[in-house]
Amino acid sequence: MTKILKNYINGEWVESRGSGFLSVINPADGQLLCNVPSGSKEDITETADEALKAWPAWRNMPATQRIQYLFKMKQILEANSNEIAEICTKECGKTFSESKAEIVRAIENIEVACGIPKLLQSDFSEDIATGVDEFYIRQPLGVGACISPFNFPIMIPFWFMPYAIACGNTYIVKPSEKVPQTMTRIFELFEQLGLPAGVLNMVHGGKETVDAILENPAVQAISFVGSTNVAKYIYQTGVTHGKRVQAQGGAKNPVVVMPDADEETTVRIIADSAFGCAGQRCLAASVVITVGNAAEKFTEKIIKTAASKKTGNGMIPGVEMGPVITKESKTRIEKLIQNGLNDGAKMLLDGRNLNVPGYEDGNFIGPTILCDVKTDSELFQTEIFGPVLTIINVDSLEDAITLINQSRYGNSACIFTRSGAAARKFRHDTLVGNIGVNIGIAAPMAFFPFSGWKESFFGDLHGQSLHAIEFYTQTKVVIERWHEEWTRKF
Ligand code: NAD
Repeated sequence: MTKILKNYINGEWVESRGSGFLSVINPADGQLLCNVPSGSKEDITETADEALKAWPAWRNMPATQRIQYLFKMKQILEANSNEIAEICTKECGKTFSESKAEIVRAIENIEVACGIPKLLQSDFSEDIATGVDEFYIRQPLGVGACISPFNFPIMIPFWFMPYAIACGNTYIVKPSEKVPQTMTRIFELFEQLGLPAGVLNMVHGGKETVDAILENPAVQAISFVGSTNVAKYIYQTGVTHGKRVQAQGGAKNPVVVMPDADEETTVRIIADSAFGCAGQRCLAASVVITVGNAAEKFTEKIIKTAASKKTGNGMIPGVEMGPVITKESKTRIEKLIQNGLNDGAKMLLDGRNLNVPGYEDGNFIGPTILCDVKTDSELFQTEIFGPVLTIINVDSLEDAITLINQSRYGNSACIFTRSGAAARKFRHDTLVGNIGVNIGIAAPMAFFPFSGWKESFFGDLHGQSLHAIEFYTQTKVVIERWHEEWTRKF
């Protein structure tokens, strides 16, 4: 019988109160893995109530004790990384080594959150007037929640959750309904933590569950990662309901190649960036902008490297690129490619109609590269979220920056060059939140905020680092007067 996933509420595994279910499919072979509840408002009402009840005791526990659970969390993820990575690869499609890399990034966030006793410290000003001192305290908000996308089932909840609970909040994780097994297994393993019931909860579901989170009065802060239209909706609806919201959206990341860029490094890194995780990374390179004669030097080499990528089931050693997440996604990507061709683009490497022997039901698209793409075309403007790279040539660095700055997205942009002056101009003038210089995926370490501008981010404070701590706390300013003569009485 097909397994039906349960929610984890107040330290118990419970069935969803809703009646609908969704199928979770292995994108490499089309096999049904399990069913996940499509969710209900009641699930969230119950979870938020329990999380709120658990909050006073959790926030009163000294931070030095709270982080002992995080140390254990890190050990559990490390000890079980192969099992977790296998589950992730089977439901998400990325290669086993890509799944393992996610665990490393998740753990880095736990490690940073373990510094919370120091990170929660604040400023103190003595004698702002005679005998008067002023300082502030960082206090947790209450119940927090995160809503995750499908493409990083392990890492993304850890951009938020470790910080939220380390700060003294209780928490609800809502995984993507497309990849719900990975976080379910992580929560099963986290039972070994012995966390007080209600501190960490997980609820499955889709829109109804998300809407219930947005409206629930107990939930104070929401972290979202997903596509731009949903991010905008989450931000606007959450704020309307008086919540603190940070919402990371979609992207279309350009990579500028200057004529002086190192050939080997540039070609290898761009191919990894564009086709790793089958292009389903919010920091994936999706547009290469060659400057001047860089087009002649680099285009053929990028095509050759891309064509050599082995596409297949991510569990098979040697496979470098897995399938895209769903059949609908594959159809959408192929349609975008065709529309681009209809708009005048030229195909340089066609990954459509790829046959992966033994995996005829998998959602495979091979590395695809197009040039002569019109900048006002759908192909150029839309986030493709698949293994598709477009190459466009411009005359100067200024032209490249102008093109980048016209985009609705601002997640990341990278430049490949040997010129410090070009790199500096690029860093200074480009309107995006994450910049890479001779780096293909400018993914910030956990001790830096995961930035993002324009329609790639809605909110003020980002995930990870001190931003996460500020997001999941509020400051209480205290001004105290102690007259000296009162002290002298003792
Ligand atoms: P998605 O927006 O479809 O889903 C994300 C989450 O929102 C899921 O948990 C889903 O259940 C929920 N959701 C979906 N539609 C909803 C609706 N109408 N109302 C309420 N909730 C809804 O995104 P996805 O396809 O899972 O993930 C891919 C997207 O995520 C891409 O656009 C990618 O760029 C983006 N992403 C961004 C970042 C970043 O850091 N900016 C990181 C990873 C992924």
